[in-house]
Amino acid sequence: MTVRVRFAPSPTGYLHIGGARTALYQYLFAKAMGGTYVLRIEDTDLERSKREYEESQIGDLKWLGIEHGEGPDIGGEYGPYRQSERMQIYGDIAWKFIEEGKAYPCFLTSEELEELTEKANAEKIAPHAYHGKYRDYDLAEAKKRIEAGEEYVIRFKNPGKKWTFTDLSRGEVTFPEDMVGDFVIIRSNKMPVYNFCCAVDDCLMKISHVIRAEEHLNNTVRQLMIYDAMGAEPPQFCHVTLLVGEDRQKLSKRHGATSVTQYKELHYLPQAMTNYLCLLGWSHPEEKDIFDVNELGEKFDLSRFSKTSAMYDIKKLNFVNEQWLRALPDADIAKGMTIALGTDSEFNKQSDEWKVKFASIMKEKIQLFSDVESHLPIFFDPAAEEDDQYKEAIAWETTAQIKTYLNEEVSKLSGDFIDESLVDTWMNHLKSELKIKGKPLFMGTRVCLTGRAHGPDLKSVVSLTPLEIVKKRLS
Ligand code: GLU
Repeated sequence: MTVRVRFAPSPTGYLHIGGARTALYQYLFAKAMGGTYVLRIEDTDLERSKREYEESQIGDLKWLGIEHGEGPDIGGEYGPYRQSERMQIYGDIAWKFIEEGKAYPCFLTSEELEELTEKANAEKIAPHAYHGKYRDYDLAEAKKRIEAGEEYVIRFKNPGKKWTFTDLSRGEVTFPEDMVGDFVIIRSNKMPVYNFCCAVDDCLMKISHVIRAEEHLNNTVRQLMIYDAMGAEPPQFCHVTLLVGEDRQKLSKRHGATSVTQYKELHYLPQAMTNYLCLLGWSHPEEKDIFDVNELGEKFDLSRFSKTSAMYDIKKLNFVNEQWLRALPDADIAKGMTIALGTDSEFNKQSDEWKVKFASIMKEKIQLFSDVESHLPIFFDPAAEEDDQYKEAIAWETTAQIKTYLNEEVSKLSGDFIDESLVDTWMNHLKSELKIKGKPLFMGTRVCLTGRAHGPDLKSVVSLTPLEIVKKRLS
């Protein structure tokens, strides 16, 4: 079987994390099976769909490395890949259905529909029970009314049977015969509805597997009817569990950043994002947490989806980002920091050599590139960080001796930075001549040179701190 999957976003906003996860699953599955991953833009909601959202979503998918094999920007054998460019196809199929007695024009006005809904509510039955008024209406008569300019929608004639399919993630799913009525497939403004055009496209684009979020599960019943009416085998479905926030509610804006664009702007690493997204609802066969999704190959199989909703946990994402960040070469970390920090950050005023050395010692202290900003005062702020430990150490008599000695030594120096080997020379002198040892020596030297009781490796910090800052601290 040729595997063909599709990601079908509506360009009505930025790419949501949940959408990115679905796209990733399609991409990985196609890769594992040697199949094709198609990008289809579902832009039939003309008012809310915007080309800039389409472009931004495609850009974000590319940033994540989720590259499609067919799509609106690159074309393909089954195009066009934008639903707004396929209107003729939907209209033709809807009318073919009408001619075949599988659909019919319906002239119910909105007032009539409202009345019918009230009637159904009063009788405690589903409103769709009354939607079939024009089901058996004479077609010649209907055509005359249409020609005369009357408004109409096209309804699908629900054959009224039970529908069963095997979902690859959830097992057997059965929908009762009265779950939906004769549903609209083309609106009065000639626009097709999602369930219709989605199924038509899946069919014409020869999609073999539909992987999507479980919120679409109930749509499947209408889509099964459309495949059936088209005389086509339905694709295999795999409805993956919803992404939820810590409160177990569907992930939404109130849970924090939910669009890929936001994470891109926060300088998360795309490899970390795809790694984390992959773990949200799917588990690695070797129980690995950190892995390159592009190296999963055949390991990515649809049987490993979890049955419970996946909780989006920013702390876990940050942890994954941290692991990926640390594994990068120091020069790349420095580059990432350069981009993440503003041009007026002290970091960006330093040489490339400085940045790479800084990256090599600070990478263990951060989860995101931008986190380094909060560590810069160790290098650039002459003022001390006067916490309890600092206050204690600075008050030692030995610290006063250390300060006097270092002040003398440092004032002899010139240039921009201090050579790190001098720190050893100074410490040796303090040890042999002034007999200061152990904690008083190490802590005392640290507080004098860095203005802090804690920090990264002392020699590295000293060598990366501008000489004038050290001078100011000592004086
Ligand atoms: N356009 C739909 C959405 O964005 C696609 C759903 C599907 O994959 O069938 O939710």
